[in-house]
Amino acid sequence: MMMDVLHKHSGWIEVICGSMFSGKTEELIRRLRRAQIARQRVAIFKPEVDNRYSEKEIVSHSDQKLASKAVRNSKQIINNALEAQVVGIDEAQFFDPGLVDVCKTLANMGKRVIVAGLDMDYRGEPFEPIPKLLAIAEYITKTHAICVVCGNPANYTQRNTKDTAQVVIGAADIYDARCRNCFVPPEKETKQENKNK
Ligand code: ZN
Repeated sequence: MMMDVLHKHSGWIEVICGSMFSGKTEELIRRLRRAQIARQRVAIFKPEVDNRYSEKEIVSHSDQKLASKAVRNSKQIINNALEAQVVGIDEAQFFDPGLVDVCKTLANMGKRVIVAGLDMDYRGEPFEPIPKLLAIAEYITKTHAICVVCGNPANYTQRNTKDTAQVVIGAADIYDARCRNCFVPPEKETKQENKNK
């Protein structure tokens, strides 16, 4: 019977994005849990690079968990998702650019694809492949954290180290959430320091 429903409805892509500490993974887990309660077959993936909390689960900062498969690249998702009706992908910003086509393929196969990830890096610049996924998604949710400086809704991730690599894995030890007014991009920070000298 479920197959009849699937034949009638086509697949689609949902993107959940925002800064760190904005509840992206929590929202992803909420949606996937509801699908599981409806007895839909769910497959969940995360990139192997992100093992901050757990190898076999996606875990939100508030410690909610769901069993997931860690994969080395986006290509490995399709073969492992063939039986699934709903595909969840966490920390999408750590995947290769091929993730965009993988999501398209899965949606074209009639699957509901839910992708969560950072939309901007620590410089406040768009973080691929999320921007491209936003363009092709049917549904977009922007989640907001709360600015640690002023309490406004926060859209930016502030890195509190001098590291200049785009990907530096960490949590509250390295990063905090900032609003537009309180976010200090790294270059600006350097200039301000030079002025002080
Ligand atoms: Zn602020």
